[in-house]
Amino acid sequence: MTNTLYDALFAPLANRPGPLLILPDGATITGTAFLAMVAQTGHALRAAGVQPGDRVAAQVPKSPLALALYGATVAVGAIFLPLNTAYTPAEIDYFIGNATPRLFVCDPDRNAALTPVATAHGAAVLTLDGAGHGSLATALAVQPDRLTPAPRGPGDLAAILYTSGTTGRSKGAMLTHRNLLSNAEALAGLWQFTADDVLLHALPIFHTHGLFVASNTSLLTGGRMIFLPGFDLDAILRLLPQATAMMGVPTFYTRLLDDPRFTRDLTAGIRLFISGSAPLLAETHRAFHARTGHRILERYGMTETNMNTSNPHDGDRRAGTVGFALPGVELRIMADGAEVTPGEAGVIEVRGPNVFAGYWQMPEKTAEELRPDGWFITGDIGRLDADGYLQIVGRAKDLVISGGFNIYPVEVEAELDAQPGVLESAVVGLPHPDFGEAVFAVLVPQPGVILDPESVLAGLRDRLARFKQPKAAVVVDALPRNAMGKVQKAALRKTHAGWFAAATS
Ligand code: AMP
Repeated sequence: MTNTLYDALFAPLANRPGPLLILPDGATITGTAFLAMVAQTGHALRAAGVQPGDRVAAQVPKSPLALALYGATVAVGAIFLPLNTAYTPAEIDYFIGNATPRLFVCDPDRNAALTPVATAHGAAVLTLDGAGHGSLATALAVQPDRLTPAPRGPGDLAAILYTSGTTGRSKGAMLTHRNLLSNAEALAGLWQFTADDVLLHALPIFHTHGLFVASNTSLLTGGRMIFLPGFDLDAILRLLPQATAMMGVPTFYTRLLDDPRFTRDLTAGIRLFISGSAPLLAETHRAFHARTGHRILERYGMTETNMNTSNPHDGDRRAGTVGFALPGVELRIMADGAEVTPGEAGVIEVRGPNVFAGYWQMPEKTAEELRPDGWFITGDIGRLDADGYLQIVGRAKDLVISGGFNIYPVEVEAELDAQPGVLESAVVGLPHPDFGEAVFAVLVPQPGVILDPESVLAGLRDRLARFKQPKAAVVVDALPRNAMGKVQKAALRKTHAGWFAAATS
């Protein structure tokens, strides 16, 4: 009997007596010990009534046991549903109501607030904290340390990941065993991961990046992970010399660059730095290269599709681009129902074994974004450069239409970022009585700089067509970001919604 994902990622740990997880204090968990945790957790899930096909929802701090919970859910043939640790009880109520899991696992600190929410939707509750304590830990301790996995095929669901919902209500992306395994195989090959790799893993494991891109790729190739509960600058600086690879969101790399202790020497043993989940500024890419000699490899993906494209491992890693389609993944750029001529911008569509099976219990939403012939409409706008590298220009929903002209925020942001004293920027469209929408810029100054928004905008006069130039700008200390480092444009639009109405009244 086979269980597609379990057989590829977890079963081989039976032959791994050496370290699998390296913890911040230097302690290690061997592959065999981790597999025993997976087995015991799987038995605890079964004891809690979890059957193949059931959902197991978890809002727990990152820990080795939290990763074992993922493995155990896959092993018993259930569907793993990890939730951002920042979600409030009201948000959890939505997810549990939508996904109706058999079991909900939460931090003991939140048990009192969340148990009524879970039980209202018929879910049993167990707890698990970041140190590996809680009622799930107690329940699994008395269980056998071997388990026969439930049979599951490539088309069965392994996980439901809710989209981050920066533009609307979160939707549950249904991911199959094939989706996850095919993507791990493609990435492992492309990025040349082997059993000798030690991956510095500081990403959260409730998101596709930390759970699938990082953990699955490492598990598949038999490497080790330095498993940190979160981004801790001191811990990362201390542990980097033990690693061979690191995956991060762009803010990881800007925070490292902000610290003078981050030097070329510290990164001498690293073979690969990878970035994704949000745009890496070309400036960060260049500064990182200047400081360390490493060119960060940027890739692009999303909850619904796993990873779609990557810059090359061997070859030119181009700042400001996300490279080429992964092996087995097709990509096209569409506008007005047809592929654009090369070089033009349009909506990115992808097709391949990585593309999800639809949104959980939302057939209309699925039909809007997933074509019957398998092409997924990503909602990202991109263009291919002359050498075929994909450039992300923005989200379709972020497109600003001012006086009938289309403006891609990324183009304006790149010009703003290049102005003296600007650290970074975000461009949004705000309601405007004449133009429908007007381009508005939010600027973050470099440390110690006092920015004058008017002179920054003046610097764009010879650089951009007039209709693209922001009609106003404000200076803020920092941009609002979610846990994965994505700028929350909906929040910016809301905060500044009345700007032009007020300015022109
Ligand atoms: P999520 O589903 O939370 O992983 O968010 C996916 C979205 O993040 C994509 O649709 C893109 O808009 C954005 N994204 C991911 N990687 C990149 C990247 N390397 N550059 C620009 N945007 C990215």
